[in-house]
Amino acid sequence: MATPITATAFVQALKKEGVRIEEVRDWRNHNRNKQGPWGPVHGIVIHHTATEGSAQTVDLIYDGRSDLPGPLAHGCVTKDGTVHLTGHGRANHAGLGDDDVLRAVIAERNTPSPNEQNSDGNRYFYGFECENLGDGKDSWPEEQLDAIARAAAALCRHHGWHARSVIGHLEWTDQKVDPRGFSMDDLRDKIAERLK
Ligand SMILES: [Zn+2]
Repeated sequence: MATPITATAFVQALKKEGVRIEEVRDWRNHNRNKQGPWGPVHGIVIHHTATEGSAQTVDLIYDGRSDLPGPLAHGCVTKDGTVHLTGHGRANHAGLGDDDVLRAVIAERNTPSPNEQNSDGNRYFYGFECENLGDGKDSWPEEQLDAIARAAAALCRHHGWHARSVIGHLEWTDQKVDPRGFSMDDLRDKIAERLK
């Protein structure tokens, strides 16, 4: 059972982990808390944006779309390795997923393959949206992968979680394919290395 991090502590934790951050507009008060519960938090979900162009991508993650209001994540990690803070509180990123996966994340066990849409991921997970087309060809620069690992590690360290608390969207639900272009196990190895 973990209480969500405060905005101030989030900034401090990211800086301590060596993350370059940009605070976007009114991100500290930007959330979907009126639409549903936020917390307890149990882990972190990693996404790709399926977009290109850093500025437009950050705006999209902050504002959302007509059919899916923002914020679409807590942070947007652009190709240059900057983490843009886009929301604080409940965000529209994880959607519905599998309660068996949620239980595994809480226990920090390997997650089973998801096959149900029965749990509100936006309540339980922080989310990072990472700028990439997700076509399997668009590259993931080393500085971007490093920033994703550091951002996730910052939250893990704050909550006393292990790297197993970090999953890809595709590990939460079989309705999604993101993130595509790197392996979540490799990312977790990097996070685990940082948390040693
Ligand atoms: Zn996603």
